[in-house]
Amino acid sequence: MKTLKLFILLFSIGLLLSCNTQTKEKPIVVSTIGMIHSMVEEIAGNKVTAIGLMGPGIDPHLYKASAGDIKTLTEADLILYNGLHLESKLIDIFEKMSKKKPTKAVTSSIPKTNLLKPTEYDGFYDPHVWFDVSLWQLAAKEVFDALVSLDPKNKLTYELNHQDYQQKLANLDRWIQLEINTIPPNQRLLVTAHDAFGYFGKKYNIQVVGLQGISTTSEAGTKDIQHVTNIIIQNKVPTIFIESSVPVRQIEALKAAVNARGWNVEIGEELFTDAMGDSDTIEGTYIGMIKHNVKSIVFGLKK
Ligand SMILES: [Zn+2]
Repeated sequence: MKTLKLFILLFSIGLLLSCNTQTKEKPIVVSTIGMIHSMVEEIAGNKVTAIGLMGPGIDPHLYKASAGDIKTLTEADLILYNGLHLESKLIDIFEKMSKKKPTKAVTSSIPKTNLLKPTEYDGFYDPHVWFDVSLWQLAAKEVFDALVSLDPKNKLTYELNHQDYQQKLANLDRWIQLEINTIPPNQRLLVTAHDAFGYFGKKYNIQVVGLQGISTTSEAGTKDIQHVTNIIIQNKVPTIFIESSVPVRQIEALKAAVNARGWNVEIGEELFTDAMGDSDTIEGTYIGMIKHNVKSIVFGLKK
């Protein structure tokens, strides 16, 4: 009996040690928003320990690092973030981390001529580039390059996965345009909680209006609600949309204001804009969230 107990004890210690070394062997890659985390999972597969900092429903514009996040970032071997001022409260941390380890904005190689610079956004570029899939393909290339320099011995795996992912993104890009084309041109008007769809509108030819601005740091005022109410009534917009990472109350106030003036606007399916869905759902991947959004938009606007 004693020998058996000793055997079990030694076996368990051995198992623990092997698990421990296994995880330590893999580089740790920490991403801020889910859409970057999703790319890392696709391109790196099981070659890295991928950690996403911001889960479902989290607004990156307002996100502040917790003590736990600082620990996670300190332990990371590579940090990937969107940049373009999206994670505006984390900039100092990235600066500090970049002195110790590769810390990369995945949007850094997108040509400035492809970026939107809305006049009302204080001289900053619009950070929501993932809504133009062809621009997000450039971000995927950045992720691939960062993984190869971090872990050159697995270059072949990253290369094959990256090629495969680029193909999927190219297919997604074409599919979105075909779907949007099914909405009659005079009904292509997308009203959402905040201005996340600028790149989407430009690329896929649909007019977009956000109730709040590019960032969610300031709420919409009565004037904004009145302005968007007018647009909805003039264009007989059938459906407006809430977003998973923005509180619903302002879109509900907008609906009430429109209804009060005799036009019955509906609230459509929840869209995933700055955060993805739950990790065990299709919307918990970048491609899944985009498909969900496009289907919901087409369904809502064709009414
Ligand atoms: Zn946003």
